[in-house]
Amino acid sequence: MIEMQDVWKTYPNGTHALQGVSVKIDRNEFVYVVGPSGAGKSTFMKLIYREEVPTKGQISVGGFNIGKLKQRKIPYVRRNIGVVFQDFRLLPRMTAYENVAFAMEVIEAPKKVIKKRVNEVLDLVGLKNKANREPSQLSGGEQQRIAIARAIVNNPSVIIADEPTGNLDPETSWGIMQLLDEINFRGTTIVMATHNRDIVNKMRKRVLAIENGNIVRDQARGEYGYEF
Ligand code: ADP
Ligand code: ADP
Repeated sequence: MIEMQDVWKTYPNGTHALQGVSVKIDRNEFVYVVGPSGAGKSTFMKLIYREEVPTKGQISVGGFNIGKLKQRKIPYVRRNIGVVFQDFRLLPRMTAYENVAFAMEVIEAPKKVIKKRVNEVLDLVGLKNKANREPSQLSGGEQQRIAIARAIVNNPSVIIADEPTGNLDPETSWGIMQLLDEINFRGTTIVMATHNRDIVNKMRKRVLAIENGNIVRDQARGEYGYEF
């Protein structure tokens, strides 16, 4: 599903964020990306959803060589990848329903299809009854559930989640983790960067540890491995 071959990323200011990363992530895997702040985790994720392009090396996602993608093909690849952020990034003056529907409107789905599918995903994340609230009227955990609904509404094959529980209390974080686990169980590949030691140690999924722009550990049923 995702493959990197000798990927390097140097930012314009000269920072070497990734230094020769090679990795393969299969369809339907759930992968935690761990490591200290500044290690290169976000850069790793941004390269997958093509927010950044590699300085050197190859990245393919769902069969597309995304480093060399023609501009007009970018929307097709992005549609296949749902992204979830630590700070939710919902549109503030839109309701939960509208935030999720918007992701389908931009790909010009028919109104009827949108209505049916948005209600379906709002139900899946457990927030059908709060569809008409704006983000400011929802708790942090609920906002993240809406962000997840938005990420999955177009049926992507991959979800990239960059510290999705970073702003949430432990109990709410577990709810979000269970939701992502359910989405993975239904067939979506998930790559999640996290500092949540508890979650990583209890879930026992594949763990990639990144330090200084390199993958220094790749365990099948791994653990967090840091004290903080
Ligand atoms: P992490 O997510 O593990 O904290 P990042 O991928 O955000 O790590 O950052 C890796 C390194 O690249 C850090 O030294 C960071 O300061 C640097 N960096 C990240 N984004 C940029 C950018 N847009 N421009 C310059 N340097 C950056
Ligand atoms: P959390 O502890 O998860 O952040 P809150 O205590 O903020 O949760 O919210 C608890 C409940 O109150 C949630 O169901 C949320 O939807 C509702 N709520 C929170 N803030 C508002 C608000 N400004 N207007 C309406 N309902 C709210």
